[in-house]
Amino acid sequence: ARRGCGSCCRGKPVAAAAVKKLDAIVISGPSGVGKGTLIQRLLAAYPDQFGFSVSHTTRDPRTGEVDGTHYHFIAKDNIQKMIANNEFLESCNVHGNIYGTSKAALADVTAQGKVAIIEMDVQGAQLLKTRQGALNFHYMFVTAPSMEELETRIRKRGADNDEKVKIRLETARKEYEFLQSSPEFFNTILANNNVEEAYEKLVALLVSLGVPLKN
Ligand code: 5GP
Repeated sequence: ARRGCGSCCRGKPVAAAAVKKLDAIVISGPSGVGKGTLIQRLLAAYPDQFGFSVSHTTRDPRTGEVDGTHYHFIAKDNIQKMIANNEFLESCNVHGNIYGTSKAALADVTAQGKVAIIEMDVQGAQLLKTRQGALNFHYMFVTAPSMEELETRIRKRGADNDEKVKIRLETARKEYEFLQSSPEFFNTILANNNVEEAYEKLVALLVSLGVPLKN
């Protein structure tokens, strides 16, 4: 307890306002912006504090992606059944494939007392906000220095042909438009111009949100 204000509280001790534990950090931002790199670093540095909420997707795995770790890769018919069974917090069509965060994926992490990291597109984040109930989520949007840099990063990854790169850039434009029209939607906008700096800012933010991280 701390001392009250001396006027309305007449100096009596009052309980410090309880800070609700963060359940998840929802990270959005255009494809290729470097969300994955930031998330991997955070998970490697603080495995006891954070857990990745593994989304489902109907897209094909990229080289090196492991089923159940990076995504639950799933056939369209099966994800549609799960959606009909109300097993998802949200699901969206992104770049022609279905992506979704299941209730079980989030619960797997929070049941271990960890903060979940949810990577999600902007449409998904909008849906999630309407459905999060009493859960405490922090919404973050990660930006790249420019569209040119974004295109370079997507092409460097080498996972998409020209047509797919175009679709990803078109989606990125729409996401930036949403950011400009509704900046208040996000609790934080993180510029990823330099991955080291962006990572440091991310850790500092999480500390400020009450996640106990030691450096
Ligand atoms: P990628 O195919 O590059 O892994 O992801 C494409 C987009 O889907 C990214 O913007 C990523 O954030 C988003 N995404 C990943 N998981 C989910 C999810 O569970 N729900 C939604 N709505 N989007 C997701």
